[in-house]
Amino acid sequence: MQKKKLGGPVIVAGGGIGGTATAVALAQAGIEVLILEQASELREAGIGIQMPPNAFKVFDRLGLVVAMLKKAACPDDLVFMDALSGEQIIRIPVDDEFLADFKYPYALMHRGDLLEVLAQACRESDRIAIRTSSRVTGFRQEGGRVTVRTEDGAYHEGAALVGSDGLWSTMRRELVGADRPRTENYIIFRGVVPADQMPELEFANAVVMWGGPELNFSHYPMRSGSYFALGASVKSALALDQGVSNLGVADGARELRERFGVVCPAIARLLDKIDVDRMWTLHDREPIKHWSQGNVTLLGDAAHPTFNYMAQGACMALEDAVCLADCVTQADSYEQAFKAYQQARYLRTARVQLTSRMYGELYHAKGVQADLRNALLSRTTAAQARQHLSWLFSGI
Ligand SMILES: Cc1cc2nc3c(=O)[nH]c(=O)nc-3n(C[C@H](O)[C@H](O)[C@H](O)COP(=O)(O)OP(=O)(O)OC[C@H]3O[C@@H](n4cnc5c(N)ncnc54)[C@H](O)[C@@H]3O)c2cc1C
Repeated sequence: MQKKKLGGPVIVAGGGIGGTATAVALAQAGIEVLILEQASELREAGIGIQMPPNAFKVFDRLGLVVAMLKKAACPDDLVFMDALSGEQIIRIPVDDEFLADFKYPYALMHRGDLLEVLAQACRESDRIAIRTSSRVTGFRQEGGRVTVRTEDGAYHEGAALVGSDGLWSTMRRELVGADRPRTENYIIFRGVVPADQMPELEFANAVVMWGGPELNFSHYPMRSGSYFALGASVKSALALDQGVSNLGVADGARELRERFGVVCPAIARLLDKIDVDRMWTLHDREPIKHWSQGNVTLLGDAAHPTFNYMAQGACMALEDAVCLADCVTQADSYEQAFKAYQQARYLRTARVQLTSRMYGELYHAKGVQADLRNALLSRTTAAQARQHLSWLFSGI
């Protein structure tokens, strides 16, 4: 017998990648959704994002593969290089064998393009309403319904509430507690550079990650190869207990030059392509097992933020979205659905959080640790590397 559809609307607090994907997945399951987003429009910063095959498995579910690929670049290789010696340590071709193993492409995108495809899918659905300039400040559960308060003094009533309000989640404070995100004092500077302003690269159509002592540098193409996304990350006394900081060009340039003074010429010549006036402090949180309470739950970075070293934070938010929608279609109540959803997700997301920390240690190794990393990784075949990544890239 077919399950009776749960009532709506589901209120989604936060219209980022996780929130919009959740809205689309729920709407496709026949549920009305109201997105409350604090910003005046749905938008993402103009920088790059990697979308490995597990993200595309989700896009396939949502019917968005073609739209996503229109503006993506697809790399030929994933490469890890030693930032001091300039040596290639391991190269994983994104070839027919890779595609045969994981079934979906590995794509590199502009964040704005990615969010726009999701936002457009929301706008095209008559089950999704979007209210921007609506910052959620609190909620109350009563009689099986949820009332959500926004900063402008409005109240919104729904059948359930999903907090996809990111790393600094307001909703998490109420559901889980006031623990702060943790940092290992790494900061990242980024850059977006037109392809014709880039010097010649050994691996141009590739995701290239350079690891060095307490630093890493990455570059990859995006927007069909017309731009490159660059990232320069380093352990720094400038790391702050907050997200984005405007440093001022002089301080940023000094930090970058001083801390990257040791790197090989292939990276050194890319440093002036980095935007030095802004930096992000990198955060994660300890994995948790419970992030749902009654008809209210968390999703994406609000539930399980991770370091960027595996390029998986947004992928986890996307996977959350389809998992949550599946649980909603299979349960008799939102409370039951949200419990099933957190149970289905917590080990996989914890594995990403904890493995990302480990990847960070590998990237940032120095001395004998770095020698050992290079010796072991350079002996690893592409087939072994794919096997190692299979739990992740095969998706849910
Ligand atoms: C340097 C770096 C590189 C990364 N690279 C990758 C990558 O290559 N691949 C990948 O998969 N992931 C990557 N990530 C992780 C990824 O960016 C995040 O995991 C992802 O953006 C999380 O999505 P989200 O929707 O959960 O949260 P967010 O993207 O933070 O969205 C939250 C939304 O909620 C809104 N909001 C916040 N508070 C409120 C409120 N109170 N009321 C209403 N709205 C609110 C915000 O304005 C925002 O729109 C990277 C992260 C970093 C820092």
